Amino acid sequence: MRTTNLGMPNAYGNLIKSAVEGYWTGKKDSLDVLIAEVNVNYHNSKMQTLLDLQPVSDIDVYDRMLKTAVMFGLVPKRFGPPEHANKNFDTYFSIPRGTKNASASPMVKWFNTNYHVIQPEIEHEPELVKKLRIFAFPEKKKMALIGPWTLLSYSINKTDKSKEQLFAALSEEYVKLINHLPHVIVQLEEPSFITHGMPVQYTDFAEKLELPVHLHVYFGAANAFAQQLFALPVQGIGLDFIDGPANLELLSQFPANKILIAGVISGRNVWKTTKQTQKILDTIIKKIPDEKLFISPSCPLLHVPLTVKDEKTEIAKKHFSFAVEKLQELEAIRANTIKYASIQEQNAPLPTERFERKRKTPWVSSTPYPTTTIGSFPQTKELRNIRSDWKKGKIPEEEYKQYVRNLIKECIAKQEELDLDVLVHGEFERSDMVEYFAEQLNGFTTINSRIQSYGTRQYRPPVITGTVSRPKPMTVEWTTYAQSLTKKPVKGMLTGPVTMTQWSFQREDISKEAQMYEIARALAEEVEDLVSSGITHIQIDEPALREGLPLDPAMREHYLHHAVNAFRLVFANVPNNVVIHSHMCFSEFSEIMHAINDMGVDVLSIEDSKAKGKTAHALQQSGFSGSIGLGVYDVHSPRIPLLEEMLAIPSSLPLDPRKIWINPDCGLKTRGQEAYEQLEMMIKAAKKLMEV
Ligand code: GLN
Ligand code: ZN
Repeated sequence: MRTTNLGMPNAYGNLIKSAVEGYWTGKKDSLDVLIAEVNVNYHNSKMQTLLDLQPVSDIDVYDRMLKTAVMFGLVPKRFGPPEHANKNFDTYFSIPRGTKNASASPMVKWFNTNYHVIQPEIEHEPELVKKLRIFAFPEKKKMALIGPWTLLSYSINKTDKSKEQLFAALSEEYVKLINHLPHVIVQLEEPSFITHGMPVQYTDFAEKLELPVHLHVYFGAANAFAQQLFALPVQGIGLDFIDGPANLELLSQFPANKILIAGVISGRNVWKTTKQTQKILDTIIKKIPDEKLFISPSCPLLHVPLTVKDEKTEIAKKHFSFAVEKLQELEAIRANTIKYASIQEQNAPLPTERFERKRKTPWVSSTPYPTTTIGSFPQTKELRNIRSDWKKGKIPEEEYKQYVRNLIKECIAKQEELDLDVLVHGEFERSDMVEYFAEQLNGFTTINSRIQSYGTRQYRPPVITGTVSRPKPMTVEWTTYAQSLTKKPVKGMLTGPVTMTQWSFQREDISKEAQMYEIARALAEEVEDLVSSGITHIQIDEPALREGLPLDPAMREHYLHHAVNAFRLVFANVPNNVVIHSHMCFSEFSEIMHAINDMGVDVLSIEDSKAKGKTAHALQQSGFSGSIGLGVYDVHSPRIPLLEEMLAIPSSLPLDPRKIWINPDCGLKTRGQEAYEQLEMMIKAAKKLMEV
């Protein structure tokens, strides 16, 4: 068998992140960004030398989807001509970040991962741009490319063309690109076959390609369209046997003349490869001749950190495998020297009762258009340094705490000055909403390395390594301190059990749902403590609820039932005067409206600025009886929103104004000081609404 990889993280040495962020602040220039990209590619390549086939063009300085869209000229007019976006980083970065006069393109979750892509907006026919930055292809390399169907499935179609017409036009441009490449293998990635099926025109498209193609379908099983997939005139087909174990059933019909690239190592979890992989491989080897077999990770490796070498804990050194180590595991499998880890599958039954709170009708504000924020406020470099010094033991705990208390005090004062109705403490003690809790709960391990969330934004997913429990209160001290400074209510701020699970690397020995309930029980204790210290508003964030939805429709109800039930467990025992908020973002809610209604919250704040209020409408139509927190502006852009833009959404919503909350569409942590100006505008908008 031979070995290959589908793609690497772009994280090496933080080179790209620091060059790009430096570019934004004017400290670095385009050349620095280009050099960073070249260096990361060079190092990635060095880490993959043992592979028989290495991907190139598999990373970007911001987002691969953005890069692919720009390649094909899919740049919205408000950012200028596509050639500029291709040549000039200012234009390129303005697409995800927005400019003074142009709002940023929307960002959406990439399948059921916590990576986010920039959505291509199609306003005109695609056209391959000239002078692409394509690297040379020495031996043993293949060109990685997101395929036309996946690109299209993630796009917003603003033309009057049908999806079929657009596919015809776009795939023509792919043909031009591919047929002009030097002779290489092309790795075409089409995970959207899993979610959107395989279009009939795909065969025509594949027939026109003059280079050998490896077509990869990952994140699920290809059974539903296998016949059509296997009939494609391509050299190889990549299947994911980790997220799509049902692919094993397809082996006996796998075409004898094609190469199988078998994803047999999880590209999405950090545990060393287990006996499960051995079982999968045993089955594959019986059906596929050695000369026709490549083994690979199940998907590109951007969803795991780069290397365990940067980790300090015993458990990480002993049990984890990140991108580099996964490639070593592939080599070890090939060399037959691998020692598979064994896991003991455990019996963890899920609760059968439904967790109910006593309050049956949602709490409603007594004033129209109440205002609030989502939780976090901007964090300075100084704060991050002090926090990290405290963690390293360089400064005493009390000094750190005093520093945070001062920030809370300032933050409360600013919110009072802005005249917000429900305040927050600002989350200055948290570098990340999941990591903060994981650090304090038993059963979690945190890691040093980061993975990409979107653009240059990275985070460190904790790892669930054992039974979760709460040794002591986690947020009470900060929240009650903030509450002591004001007469207005301060929201207690928790990360929900679904998001805690979803944004961590999970255990492989019990189900994801069982892990959610364990975390929910720990959080319920925190809620109890908050309530008994006098906190009356509690927000339990679940931005990842939608993301956890299995791609396989047959698995969805099971997941939704338990995800929502675990969420309800957290506040099942609160007294009736306690107001429960939740926040969700980056979600296409349409498929899960019933589950959202079922969450039983009083106020749900949603990200709705880019969808221009569509979600709120749909939510209201679906019979949601609580209040809706409208995210009236995009916090991911530094731009100060216009008053009219913010007014448009709430004024068109046919709902009792006391049930319409005005808030930003997410936390303000990713913003700088402009956040306060944005909030000022938002409050102006809310006041304006009240005048009408
Ligand atoms: N409370 C969190 C914050 O404001 C919510 C973040 C999120 O939704 N991703 O940062
Ligand atoms: Zn959010």
